[in-house]
Amino acid sequence: MTYKTHLALAYAINIPLIEKFYEAQDFNQNSVILALIITFILSLAPDLDHPKSFLSQIPPFNIISWILSSITNHRGITHRFYFIFIPTFLIWFGLTYLNIKYKIDIKSIDNLTLLAFLAYLSHLLGDCTTKSGIKGLFSPFYNKTVYIVPKFMRYKTGTIVEYFYLLGLIFIIVFEVKDFLLK
Ligand SMILES: [Zn+2]
Repeated sequence: MTYKTHLALAYAINIPLIEKFYEAQDFNQNSVILALIITFILSLAPDLDHPKSFLSQIPPFNIISWILSSITNHRGITHRFYFIFIPTFLIWFGLTYLNIKYKIDIKSIDNLTLLAFLAYLSHLLGDCTTKSGIKGLFSPFYNKTVYIVPKFMRYKTGTIVEYFYLLGLIFIIVFEVKDFLLK
C-alpha cells in the first residue's frame, strides 16, 4: 500500500471520531490540530522500517528510520500487533509532557491516544489488503501471513487496483467532511 492510501485510510477512520469529539466539546482547537498531525504520522510510522518510505525521508523521522531499518526487516517488528502499544504510549507520554511542561491547552489526551492507536492499526490493516499481507502480524501466537480481504481483492502495491481503493477512501473522506461542514 502506498503512503497516500495509508493516509486516506487513517483519515477515513479518524475524521468522524475527531468530528464527534469536537462536537461533544471533548476536543478544543489544539486537540483537533494535534489529532490531524498524529493521524498523519502514526499512519505512516510502521514503514519507518524501510529507508525509502515517505516518512523516512523527513527529519527527524529519518534518524528513527535509520535505526529501525538497520535492526529489522521491512514488515518486521513494526508490523506486529503488540508493537502498536509502543508508539501509542509514546504519544500519550509526549502529550502529557507537553501539557504539563508548556501548559499547551490540549484537551482530552485519552481520545488523542485512541486516535494514535487507530491510525497505527489502520496501517497494519491496510497492509493486510495487499498481496503480500503481513507475515506474523499476530506473532508470537500466530506466525502465518494475515490478510483481511478475499484473494480477488488483494493487489500489488502501486497498481491500478490500489488506486480504486484510494479513490473510494477519498470519496468517503469528502462525505465525512462535507456532512460536518454543512451541519
Ligand atoms: Zn507497512
